[in-house]
Amino acid sequence: MMQLFEAVPAAGQPSLALHGGAGSRTQELSLTEGAPYAHGLRAAYQAGWQVLAAGGAALDAVCASVAVLEDDPLFNAGRGASLTATGQAELDASVMTGAGRAGAVAAAHRARNPVQLARAIMEQTDHVLLVDPDVEFLKAHGLEVAEPGWFVTEHRRRQLEKVLTGRAAAARHGTVGAVARDTSGRVAAATSTGGIVGQSDGRVGDTPIIGAGVYARDQLAAISCTGHGEAFIRGVIAHDVAARVKYAGATLAGAVRATFAEELTRRGSDGGLVAVGGDGRIVVAHNAPAMFSARGPGPDPELTL
Ligand code: ASP
Repeated sequence: MMQLFEAVPAAGQPSLALHGGAGSRTQELSLTEGAPYAHGLRAAYQAGWQVLAAGGAALDAVCASVAVLEDDPLFNAGRGASLTATGQAELDASVMTGAGRAGAVAAAHRARNPVQLARAIMEQTDHVLLVDPDVEFLKAHGLEVAEPGWFVTEHRRRQLEKVLTGRAAAARHGTVGAVARDTSGRVAAATSTGGIVGQSDGRVGDTPIIGAGVYARDQLAAISCTGHGEAFIRGVIAHDVAARVKYAGATLAGAVRATFAEELTRRGSDGGLVAVGGDGRIVVAHNAPAMFSARGPGPDPELTL
């Protein structure tokens, strides 16, 4: 069953929405277990909201929010990311502005905040996507370097062990992302993940693929996705939503519903996304049983757990 929430900010107000991953696990979360996730989502929302409320850029806001979630070990991005079959944290991240600039990184091992690395690739190189730039690259671009053990938590080690020994399904949960529209009307999106628990080393999902896990265009939309990465790549999900708005004249919510129905649900795949429209409207949607999200409008976010 698809869930969709829509909100429209007051005139002149910025918009912000975040996700902390879609999956099935939250159905089992008791309220006390949910509390730390709610705390993390709120802290991340506030980091982005502060930027927007001060008149800052949508790009700065989405990077600020995503960096907070990357540092929070509960979410599958940065520290606490899910581990590959050999126990590695291989981090994918992307960022895109409504002006059409984009940067992404796949399988990063040493950047403390992969979203900042994606941004540096966008702003400081001629490239869009790099695979695991080395420590010299990170230092040369002013990025914080993490020690190899920084990303790997005990919880994730145990989870991997359970998945590899068949005691748990290869649950996906916790990929993070943010979309924003600032008071100047510019939009941006960012997404960051450790991928799927027990994935093959070197597997790259939709997160760093522009148009699949992330997309932004001023006057149109900014979108950040989470879910079954291969399906999101095949359906070019983020771009498919924007294209329905642009070429078919769909509303943002209508475009999201159609993309999910035709490209995901019909093909037996699930996930979710957060989106802002060119007019600032916010759409949060998932066909997975649950998704962590925080959405405006305003300084106090509505949460879904
Ligand atoms: N989309 C991510 C990937 O496939 C995983 C997720 O969002 O849970 O790498």
